[in-house]
Amino acid sequence: MKISEIYSKANKPVFSFEIFPPKTIEGDYKLINTVSELKKLSPSFISVTYGAGGSTKDKTIDLCESIQSQFQIPTMCHFTCVGASSIDVKATLKIIESKKIENVIALRGDPPKDQGVFIKHPMGFANGTELIEFIKRENFSFCLGGGCYPEKHPDSPTLDDDIRFLKKKVEAGAEFLITQLFFSNQLFQKFRDKIKLAGITVPIIPGIMPITSFSQIERFRGMANCQIPDDLVAELEALKDHPVEFLDKSIQFTVSQCKELLSMGVSGIHFYTLNQSRATIEIMKSLI
Ligand SMILES: Cc1cc2nc3c(=O)[nH]c(=O)nc-3n(C[C@H](O)[C@H](O)[C@H](O)COP(=O)(O)OP(=O)(O)OC[C@H]3O[C@@H](n4cnc5c(N)ncnc54)[C@H](O)[C@@H]3O)c2cc1C
Repeated sequence: MKISEIYSKANKPVFSFEIFPPKTIEGDYKLINTVSELKKLSPSFISVTYGAGGSTKDKTIDLCESIQSQFQIPTMCHFTCVGASSIDVKATLKIIESKKIENVIALRGDPPKDQGVFIKHPMGFANGTELIEFIKRENFSFCLGGGCYPEKHPDSPTLDDDIRFLKKKVEAGAEFLITQLFFSNQLFQKFRDKIKLAGITVPIIPGIMPITSFSQIERFRGMANCQIPDDLVAELEALKDHPVEFLDKSIQFTVSQCKELLSMGVSGIHFYTLNQSRATIEIMKSLI
């Protein structure tokens, strides 16, 4: 089923989950168990990430296919164009299409760590918008989503510039946008206000992730460019040597964050599960 249809027909919030392709066979087995647990929450769809630089291409596509066939859950395939020519992109999309995967989130991707800045392939694409334009031009019938950044994409000089480009992404064919993870609903609301002013009307879906260990805090701040409220950091720091209480506190924060987002009228929430079911199940139990 197409995600655009899921959002347009839903008469209640749409909950969906992101997983990533494991690197080990043990991880594969664990993931089957995680997906079985997550299925009990009746997710509207599950998305599978595309490893940096397309490193998990086959596994991402295979996982989407098997989740659809084994669990009857619609999937969304993440797809990036780092280091890929338009010929490579087209070939991969043909494979995705042949597996009856109807939804793709089309992303630029991050540059390799030693490269620093993103350099487009000479026969490829400079950003997510160019990728979406190409997918449409080639007449693929995927329902296309895109990424968005309530606290600004790190390469962008200002949030206003980023939103100007986001408008082009929607005009090119993105039917919904999923956010980078964030912890401040206030910043998300400011972003939504700007999006509205820019005339963007597609669903903007918060991407939410509970903090499951203290070391994640610095990583999120660096990688995802996101602010974490000082009082939450202080509370979690006090519990950093008590994993059970730490997770409980973090889940409590995420539940109130999600409840507030739902009261703000978001169309749904996409949970970054990190292939773990426990935190997501606990949070969802308080929401449904
Ligand atoms: C929901 C979500 C899922 C993700 N999943 C994955 C994944 O599975 N695998 C992975 O490797 N990465 C993933 N990422 C990370 C993503 O690939 C990176 O954040 C990447 O740096 C940006 O990709 P994008 O398509 O979102 O950004 P883009 O829309 O391409 O924007 C990137 C930068 O270019 C600028 N820009 C955009 N359009 C133009 C234009 N027309 N002219 C000039 N500048 C422009 C933007 O302002 C921004 O600064 C995900 C991100 C999100 C939000």
